This record gives sequence, C-alpha cells and structure tokens, in this order.
Amino acid sequence: MGAQTRGRSVRFFTNTCTTCANNVGVPLLSDFAYGEMIFQTDNGKDFAYAEVIAEDAWSIIAGICENEFGLGRKKPSPKLQVFHCVAIRCADPLDGRPYTTHFPLCPRCGAKLTSYGDNQIHHDGHVPRATWQRFMSLSPEARKSLVRKLWNEEVDP
Ligand SMILES: [Zn+2]
Repeated sequence: MGAQTRGRSVRFFTNTCTTCANNVGVPLLSDFAYGEMIFQTDNGKDFAYAEVIAEDAWSIIAGICENEFGLGRKKPSPKLQVFHCVAIRCADPLDGRPYTTHFPLCPRCGAKLTSYGDNQIHHDGHVPRATWQRFMSLSPEARKSLVRKLWNEEVDP
C-alpha cells in the first residue's frame, strides 16, 4: 500500500556528539506540532517519521493504556512518557531494527545526544513512515497483553 511506503522530507541539523566528537546530522521537526514525531532505530543509523494522531495503532495503544494504567490526557505526565515508549516499541522494526526510546542518538556511535539544536542545517532528507502492521495484525487480546508487558518493562526495567 502506498501509505506504508510514503514518507516525508525532514530537515537534518548539524550537531556535535560529545561522545565521539563527530559532527552528525540529526532530523528535527521544524515545530513541535502535536502528533508529529521522528523515530530512530536503536543503532542510531536510520530515521522514520510518524504522524501519530493519524495512526490507528497509536490511538488503540493509548486506549489500552487509559483502561489498564489510567493514562490521562493531561500533559506532560510521567505516564505519557511511558505510553510514548510503549507505542514506539509496538512499531514495526525498520529494516529489522527496532526503534529507540532514547531519541536522539548519535548516528555515528549510537551514544545518546545529551544536547542538540537546530541552528545549523545539515541537509534535507527523505525518511520513511513508521508503521504498526505487526501490532495491527494481532487480536485485541494479544494487543492488550503486549502493551501490558511493554508498559511493565518501561516502568520497572
Ligand atoms: Zn557519536
């Protein structure tokens, strides 16, 4: 389906990694509009884009977290952070790599970028759209138990 392969162009900004001292390009959205997120694979190498408010999986996972764990609509809250991590981990891996819940990582060495900014444009690059096909193929019961398992792992690693 076209919707699965569609992505968008995002602007990468130059940041210096304090761990490996390289200048690296990290995509950041121009504004922090609700519902748009950049995802990054856990080795730091690849990025994806998600328009989360348009994703059925995102609202299904939010619904499960509301029912099971009392996730509220108030922001920001620690529970909202847990929910984000759970929803990211439910996404389909990108070329076999799961997404990190510690965005942004250095694309060169994989260390967490502790500070980053958008002062210096690196390049504009096309990133694919994150998908949740695997999650959506599960039964409602299986979705619930997966979300429960991931939530508990995030809360009590
Ligand atoms: Zn680095």
